Amino acid sequence: MKRIVVVGGVAGGATCAARLRRLDEEAEITILERGPHVSYATCGLPYFVGSVIPRESDLLVATPKLFQERFAIDVRTGHEAMAIRRIEQQVVVRSLADDKTYHLPYDALVLAPGASPVRPPLPGIDLEGVFTLRTVEDARRIIERVGKVGARKAVVVGAGFIGLELVENLVGLGLEVSVVEKAPQVLPPVDPEVAGVMATVLRNNNVALYLMEGLVAIEEGLVVRTTSGRELAADLVVLSLGVRPETRLAREAGLELGPHGGILVNEEMLTSDPRIWAVGDAVEVTHVVTEQTGLLALAGPAQREARVAADSICGRPSRFRGVQGTAILQLFGTTVAMTGASERSLGMAGMLGYSVVHLHPGDHAGYYPGATPIDLKLLFRPYDGKILGAQAVGRKGVDKRIDVLAMALQMGATVFDLEQSELAYAPQYGSARDPVNLAGMIAANVVRGDLSLGSWEDVISGPGLVVDVRSPEEFERGHIPSAINLPLPQLRRRLGELPRDRQLLVCCQVGQRAYYAARLLSQRGFQASILSGGYRTWQDLTA
Ligand code: FAD
Repeated sequence: MKRIVVVGGVAGGATCAARLRRLDEEAEITILERGPHVSYATCGLPYFVGSVIPRESDLLVATPKLFQERFAIDVRTGHEAMAIRRIEQQVVVRSLADDKTYHLPYDALVLAPGASPVRPPLPGIDLEGVFTLRTVEDARRIIERVGKVGARKAVVVGAGFIGLELVENLVGLGLEVSVVEKAPQVLPPVDPEVAGVMATVLRNNNVALYLMEGLVAIEEGLVVRTTSGRELAADLVVLSLGVRPETRLAREAGLELGPHGGILVNEEMLTSDPRIWAVGDAVEVTHVVTEQTGLLALAGPAQREARVAADSICGRPSRFRGVQGTAILQLFGTTVAMTGASERSLGMAGMLGYSVVHLHPGDHAGYYPGATPIDLKLLFRPYDGKILGAQAVGRKGVDKRIDVLAMALQMGATVFDLEQSELAYAPQYGSARDPVNLAGMIAANVVRGDLSLGSWEDVISGPGLVVDVRSPEEFERGHIPSAINLPLPQLRRRLGELPRDRQLLVCCQVGQRAYYAARLLSQRGFQASILSGGYRTWQDLTA
């Protein structure tokens, strides 16, 4: 009989233990969890703070009793793994209730300790009223603070996914919320123009956004001081500055760590010790597009890694394929999502030979009431059309487009596959030419050489001439400063007004009319490129 010990009983640990039981009825499986709960919905915590999820019990997906009754798994909450004795194959465990220590032998050990919120050693960081959010208890403490002091003002430091989810929920509770973020944009994993849309959403919902301002100190009475010298008074402060993998156990046991400080594992989630596996936020992962290693704190990868580790422990040939960073967030009714590489991550990986198209199709057919635009960005390899990444923002239909693109990316698909994809269509849901098809068609036109893409940088500093083919009324309402207006219906008869020795950067509202114009112009001997996504993308880029 195999003795398997799992350290950590939430996303990765609980999943791994349950699969282990399904694969091996004989194994003796123990979960050690230092907190009071196992298998709770971490991702629901911001919504519990905001009372969207009303009861704490709604977050508790499973209990130790359920694990015992259903899976014959011994869950020990309030038990912390203190050390690993690799030679003896034992975990040193402390029972937190009575402070007693004991040794637990293992044949296989799984580390799923997660990651802890970053708390920089700044003045005032430990003051009452300063919080981080990782556990149910953290959420309860924030809720208590809001009620106890009748909080009216909150400062959230850090504008990542979790920080912004909290912002929305605190606003929902009626608080005045300020966000302090060191980077020049919110949501660092997405590219600036996509993040810009979300920044506007925040501002439109009365959130005060202080970008390029780092936290310097929190003063008595809860005054947040930033690098620009700004002082923000608050009744509560939540630090949402990212997470650090919990590697103390692994490090002290001499397991190899990766260059980013996470536990190093192979494709079977096996560490440098052949009897110890590791999964979840604590491990280093490889990005399927950039092939760079890094850390990624997401529940989906943790679950999949846990399944692979369980398979590997039970001798099944399972391999983790890597991560693609698919993530999604809703803020005040607007959804932003991404999959694969961003322009920034491609740049950091030195993969500069990529192309980008922007488009702004409706989430469903325009003739059916209620269609809203999706800002969609697709990154692909210009020489063979391989999909590298996608980002989208909009009020409806963003999740399904990014999920379709995530699946395509995982399968190694090209823009030609998107062009040919057959997707569900009735007017309420999409268009006969779905946004995913459309993105594929535009990108495929580029790869085939039917369409040349002008770069948005050229608009600012290049020698090209920006030709806006919208109507004079649309042009009047707002245009790129250097643009001339030559409406599409007049283009054929006014070709003589355009220079043949200059690159023409053709622009319209969202890209469609510019494409027609560029096809016309290039067949008439002009050097014409389109500014993909049109004036709408320009507005996002310069917001
Ligand atoms: P965890 O789920 O954190 O579990 C680790 C457990 O190990 C902890 O309970 C800890 O107490 C225990 N532990 C650590 N050390 C020891 C020890 N020595 N002995 C005993 N026990 C130990 N991801 C998404 O994909 N989508 C979301 O919407 C999303 N929202 C989130 C919202 C919040 C507020 C937070 C905090 C995270 C969110 N995440 C989200 C991230 C996601 O929750 C994590 O990626 C996932 O939980 C990681 O799983 P894990 O098993 O590695 O770690």
